Amino acid sequence: MFVGHYAAAFALKGKEKGASLGMLFIATQFVDILFFPFVLAGIENLKFVKGFTAVNDFNMDYYPFTHGLLGSLCWAVLFFALYFFVFAKNKADKKSIATVMALGVLSHWFTDLIVHTPDLPLINGDPKFGFGLWNNKVLTFGTEAILLVFGFLYYLKKTKAVSAIGKYAGLGFVLFLLLTNYLNLFVLPANDDIKSLTVSALFFYFLFAAIAHFVDKKRV
Ligand SMILES: [Zn+2]
Repeated sequence: MFVGHYAAAFALKGKEKGASLGMLFIATQFVDILFFPFVLAGIENLKFVKGFTAVNDFNMDYYPFTHGLLGSLCWAVLFFALYFFVFAKNKADKKSIATVMALGVLSHWFTDLIVHTPDLPLINGDPKFGFGLWNNKVLTFGTEAILLVFGFLYYLKKTKAVSAIGKYAGLGFVLFLLLTNYLNLFVLPANDDIKSLTVSALFFYFLFAAIAHFVDKKRV
């Protein structure tokens, strides 16, 4: 899953206004931010198999550290600790901020579950889970879009624009996310080169987080 992960970021920001939307964008995508470099470093494994799913050629046969449920939980605990003891330590609502950050990290596994083929382990090895929506491009795009729009609407309901930009920047951003996903799924050719895939994935993850930070500054 790609932009659908940000549904959780928007929803969690709606729940806890003290949390940074930009950092929630990092949190909800955190295990993928690690995954591509881990593959490059040989820690985890990604094989490219032509036509493996309708959406991509990814056969992930070994990635327990980033996409095991236990692994995800460990990263979530790390985020909780970092926010509780370091980044938000002087804030009155530090426990709530740390909790939404941790939930953001953990949400990745559960949203991936919808689209992945059964390759998501609990710890490592079998049993593995995944409902396989990646076997259908239209369903993948539609599901991610619906999740994202609902998360965003909840965020809109819970926050208020402080300027005209604040009113429309968010909407423009969500349309940009959907367009990026459309190009990714329907227009651009499958990318089977791990180096360029890592660079472009990280570029977009951080670009989206930066835009989210900007959009959120225009709302309270
Ligand atoms: Zn993932």
